[in-house]
Parts: sequence; structure tokens; C-alpha cells
Amino acid sequence: MTDDELLARADAVASRAYAPYSGFNVGCAVLTRDGTVVEGVNVENAAYPLGVCAERTALSRAVAEGFRPGDFAVAAITAAPCGGCRQWLHEMGVDRVVFRNGGRTVTMTPDELLPESFDSSDLT
Ligand SMILES: [Zn+2]
Repeated sequence: MTDDELLARADAVASRAYAPYSGFNVGCAVLTRDGTVVEGVNVENAAYPLGVCAERTALSRAVAEGFRPGDFAVAAITAAPCGGCRQWLHEMGVDRVVFRNGGRTVTMTPDELLPESFDSSDLT
């Protein structure tokens, strides 16, 4: 599957977002190393801080299905990932992240998205 095809999956799933407050639908499609695609959408809540981003729902679904950090090749997102999701993408060891930003399609690694990030090695 190409990055463009994965981004098309993210576009398609974005229509299922639950975003009644912002009206800003986001989709994420994560490609695992075994070829599985796991999708996620943003899910908002009337208590605004409790909303969850599309990247986190996709990665959480993948973990529930048995995938672990290092199993992820690509994450495609319909918008630029927020700071918190950049930390999640780093934690899950995604090889590269493809996302739209200002009408462009951008490809970056989690380290490029969040340099000098906090990780498990900081806990020892
Ligand atoms: Zn986010």
C-alpha cells in the first residue's frame, strides 16, 4: 500500500468522526508491518478536554488488537498531528508519518516531529 493510498483511507474514515463541537473531522490510518490497516477518528466530548484525537484512537485500537511499539510502518493523518499525538507516534515507534498541512502533504519521522522527546529511557 502506498502512502497516498493510506492517506485516502484516512480521508475516507474521517467522515465517521464524532466532532459535533468543532466540526473538524480528522481521520488516521495506520499501516502495520504485517499489512494491517487500523483506522481512527477524533471523538469529541461536551467536556472538551476529554476529546480524543484520531491518531490516538487508531493507535489504541491497534494496541487492543495486539500490536505493539515497533509494529507500525506508517501513520497517515488528514491534518497535522498535535503535540500530544507526536508523543504517541514516538512512543509507538512509527517509522514515518504522512499528513496534510497547509495544502501540502508532509512526510516526517516521529523524531523530526518531536525532537529531544521524552521516552521510556528517561524513566530509568
Ligand atoms: Zn492529537
